[in-house]
Amino acid sequence: MSAKKKIYVIINPKSGTSSKQNLPRKIAETFDPHKFDVHIFITGYAGHGSEIAKQAIEDKVDYVVAVGGDGTVNEVARTLVDSDIVLGIIPLGSGNGLARDLNIPVDAKKAMNTILEENIISIDYGKVNNERIFFCTCGMGFDAEVAAMSSGKKSRGSFMYIKNMLETFIKQKPQTYEIICPEGTIKDEAFVVTCANASQYGYNAHIAPHADIQDGMMNIAILKPLSILDVPQTSLQLFAKKIDENNKMIELITNEATIKRESAGVMHIDGDPVEMGTEIHVKIIPKGLKVLVPKDLPKKNPLDPQEILMRVADTFF
Ligand SMILES: [Mg+2]
Repeated sequence: MSAKKKIYVIINPKSGTSSKQNLPRKIAETFDPHKFDVHIFITGYAGHGSEIAKQAIEDKVDYVVAVGGDGTVNEVARTLVDSDIVLGIIPLGSGNGLARDLNIPVDAKKAMNTILEENIISIDYGKVNNERIFFCTCGMGFDAEVAAMSSGKKSRGSFMYIKNMLETFIKQKPQTYEIICPEGTIKDEAFVVTCANASQYGYNAHIAPHADIQDGMMNIAILKPLSILDVPQTSLQLFAKKIDENNKMIELITNEATIKRESAGVMHIDGDPVEMGTEIHVKIIPKGLKVLVPKDLPKKNPLDPQEILMRVADTFF
């Protein structure tokens, strides 16, 4: 008989839209008290989730379960990287990028069942300028402008997201980016430069359909300037996991890159807009976070090594 597993559950009562009144009780009841020692925490302010996660590291708990939207999940996950603590996710947001990439159900009860399966994997995370951590994507250009426009708005559903995208598209001006990575350098005008650790931004918008969160690499998606006529097809491809078929798309697979751009300004880090300078360094830290995921994780259908080589060759030569 092994000792009980200690679990901290961090709930953001403000995330999502439905009422969370019964959630703490429901979650507590789901864990078998003979197997788990469960402590429930309700966050009261921004940064509180991170404080509780720090305490969890000190208290050497087994699992920390983040219950909330991307903000809550990312805040807790960022604190747990490089520790032995395993993250569980009950996604309550609308983007839910990390949960979706890991095939964690976007349904509280099913996500809870995933946690009870106790199936643990290690995933990569990314670091921007050796300081800021991301799990899904970070990027410059159009997607960063959309993030800046969407943040602070109350309505955050898929419709708002698409509306913001279209509004931003009309205003956006492509910049020239120089992307320097160990494999070589690309200098080109681009509409979007996204470093993808996971395949999607969230909202099932797959900017790098082949990105694998466990391969120690990031997929840099460089979308060349688009005309308004390219928008319908590109948007469809984004949501159909087929944007790699777009002829305006270059995909680079590397573990580290320095990106130089013409002017300083906003970039996004996991969808959060952040003001940054002209030179940005992005690096992947392999297997830096342990996560509870469903056992029946479907294969991501990654590119075979030969195809990756061909793409790199196409890009540089
Ligand atoms: Mg990867």
